[in-house]
Parts: sequence; structure tokens; C-alpha cells
Amino acid sequence: MTIIDVAIIGGGASGCTTAFHLAYKGKSVCILEKNNSSAERTCGGGMSAAVQKWFPFNLMSIVEEVITNVEFSWCNTDKVVAELSGDSPFWILKRENLDSFLLGQALNSGCNILTTFIVVKIIKKNSNIWQITALDGRQIEAKAVVIADGSQSQWPKTFNLGPKNLKFASTFSGRIKRKGKLRSETARFEFGLVKNGFAWAFPLKDEINIGIGTFLDSKNSIPIDKILKSFLPDLGLEPCDVTGQEKKLRIWNGHNNLSGDGILLVGDAASLCDPFLAEGLRPALMSGYEAANCLVNWLDGEINNLDNYTNNMKKNWGNSMAWGKRISQVFYRFPKVGYQLGVKRPTAPERIAQILSGEMSYEDIAKRVINRLIFQKSRS
Ligand SMILES: Cc1cc2nc3c(=O)[nH]c(=O)nc-3n(C[C@H](O)[C@H](O)[C@H](O)COP(=O)(O)OP(=O)(O)OC[C@H]3O[C@@H](n4cnc5c(N)ncnc54)[C@H](O)[C@@H]3O)c2cc1C
Repeated sequence: MTIIDVAIIGGGASGCTTAFHLAYKGKSVCILEKNNSSAERTCGGGMSAAVQKWFPFNLMSIVEEVITNVEFSWCNTDKVVAELSGDSPFWILKRENLDSFLLGQALNSGCNILTTFIVVKIIKKNSNIWQITALDGRQIEAKAVVIADGSQSQWPKTFNLGPKNLKFASTFSGRIKRKGKLRSETARFEFGLVKNGFAWAFPLKDEINIGIGTFLDSKNSIPIDKILKSFLPDLGLEPCDVTGQEKKLRIWNGHNNLSGDGILLVGDAASLCDPFLAEGLRPALMSGYEAANCLVNWLDGEINNLDNYTNNMKKNWGNSMAWGKRISQVFYRFPKVGYQLGVKRPTAPERIAQILSGEMSYEDIAKRVINRLIFQKSRS
């Protein structure tokens, strides 16, 4: 059996990004994907334009709307609008288009894909070789393995990677085939109608991505119908317009080891998703980029372990998420106070918009608040 450089479990956004960068640098890569089509996927499709820096090709062809305004509301009233600076806008796209575009780039660079490959077993055959087995008995051998199979992945636990205690957000995402009253270039976030979370409406070219996320208690299911019944009429839409589905989304829960001996976690499998705003695409693409860079150096013998990957993800993403988690726990526990004191502060909408656009991190904001408090104290 041929031994390839890297086998990637899962052909979503994180797996395809990893595959592209590895193949682009001349490594032999195979994506092992359980599905066979690029059907509509459960995702709001909102993504910071800052992700462009991780690709040598232009992503603009799959962007359906460039957001210039973000509107926040509390029970459809008390609205505030933040303008996004032109430097780092927020993009809305169809998630299935992002995945198939990234897959196309990976395949063009020489990557292979095996579809209907449901990974059921991953073992280390000897000190250097991983063996991956599909439900139908097909097998692949590789020098390294990247776990990119999303929020339901069982492999982090098997290999003692990622958080010991997994944390999930309950989510719903759907699409409406018309735009109602949602203005072009405007994303809407509604905080008052959803317990411990928010609802959103993101415009596509001729449709809208609608969603709901709750962040503190994933055990109970979301009262979707009740929320949509209140939220959608404000947008000139009806609940019966939506088709969608619920999903448990693994969210960030502490700094953890994301790499072992020849094995890495990326995207949702690595529990990277923002615990305050459910932003998972940017860390999925960032982790794919960082994982591939680290693997290239490791395969070339320039480094002898993959620790750099964990360290870089901590520095570039985890440090911000540690603050995101704290903010989420306070905000969603006392959302009415949070909305009045947080979102309605004159500078707050702009800060949230800057987080969405990748211009600022939660860590930057926390440092600003701490500095302001220290300054106020030293003056009093
Ligand atoms: C309702 C909802 C709305 C969201 N909205 C946004 C948003 O607007 N913006 C944002 O930034 N993030 C959003 N997210 C988060 C974002 O969708 C995820 O963070 C992102 O999908 C992570 O990509 P991934 O490639 O790691 O995982 P996935 O996209 O889940 O891909 C995993 C892949 O692995 C495959 N797979 C699974 N198991 C196996 C197996 N055993 N063998 C082989 N293949 C397997 C799957 O078929 C899939 O193709 C949202 C999430 C949800 C649930």
C-alpha cells in the first residue's frame, strides 16, 4: 500500500484548507469524506474578510454580500446600528459554496479525495505510520493524520487531545428564499428573544440565512418555532418560509493540546468555535493554514514535533477566546443588563463589529476596559 504524507478526516472548511496548503507545498494528501455531495449546509455563512490573508487565490467570487452595517436589537426594539469600516468587512456566503470552492482549489493543487469514506478506525500501525479504516473496509496509510470531522468527532478523546470537558452550543440554521425587509449589506443580531443566546439574519444575494444559537445550556432544545414567530415578522417574513435544521456546535472551552505525535486537530474537532458569537469559520481556516505550515516543516524534518501548532493557535486564537468565554458567561446570564450596558454603550456596536470583521480580538477589548478602569481609578 502506498503511504501518503497526510490523511485528512473530513472535507469541510478546515479539512479543505489544510489539504489545499499541504498540496500547494507539494505534499501527498488525501481527504477522507463521509458524504458525497455539497448539499446545503447548516451554517450562517458569516465570515470575516480577514480570512483572505491565508489564501493565495481570491475568495470574492463566492461572497454573496459584503456587510457594511450590523444592526442589533432587543426583542425587535431598542435597535442600534454599527457601521463597519471598509478595511475589514464581514462577508456572507453560502457555506456549501465555500467548502466546494476550497475543495476545488485543493484538488487543483494535487490533493485527492475519497468520498463515502466513513472513518471508523484510526490506529498507529508502527511508530511512523497511521492506518485509517472506513466503514466499508477501505484503508489508507499516512505519515500524519489531521482530524477535521467537525463537532461530533470522537477522535480528540481517543487520542487525548482537545478539551476533556466538551462544551456545546445549541444551534438552528435555515434559509429563506426571499429577503423580506432585511436591508442589503446589513446583518441583524437579535438578543432579547433567545434565552442565553441570540438570533441572526444574514443577507445573501436573493435569500437570507436565518439562525439561532444558545450558549450556556445545550441540554434543552431551542424553542425554534416560538422564536421565529417573534423574530421573522419584524423582517417582513413568516416562520413557514424557513427550512433548516438543528445542530450541536462544539465551542471553545479552555487552552488545550491540539497536537500529538503525527496527529493534529483542526476546526470544530479542535473546539475552536467562538463561545460568544459562534464564529467558527475563521478559526477553521486559520487552523487549517497553521496546521499545514507546521506539518510541512515536520515532514521536511525541520522540526521534530507538532507543538508549534498548539502554541500558534493559542497565541492567535485561544487567548482571545479565553476572554470570549468570560464575556459569554456574564453576558448571556444577564442579557438584559448586558444589552443595555454592553451593546448600547456608544462604542460597543462598533467593537462587536470589529470582532466580527477580525479587526479586534476579545483580548484587545478586555485590555482596553482594564486600562480604562486603571486610568479612572488613578484619576479618582
Ligand atoms: C447553525 C450554525 C451556524 C453557524 N454560523 C456560522 C457563521 O455564520 N459564521 C461562522 O464563522 N461560523 C458559523 N458556524 C460555525 C461553523 O459552521 C463551523 O465552525 C465550521 O463548519 C467548522 O468547519 P469544520 O470543517 O471544522 O467542520 P464541518 O464543517 O462540520 O466539516 C466536517 C466534515 O467532516 C465530515 N465527517 C464527519 N465525520 C466523518 C467521518 N467519520 N469520516 C469522514 N468524514 C467525516 C463531514 O461530512 C464534514 O464534511 C455555524 C455553525 C452552526 C451549527
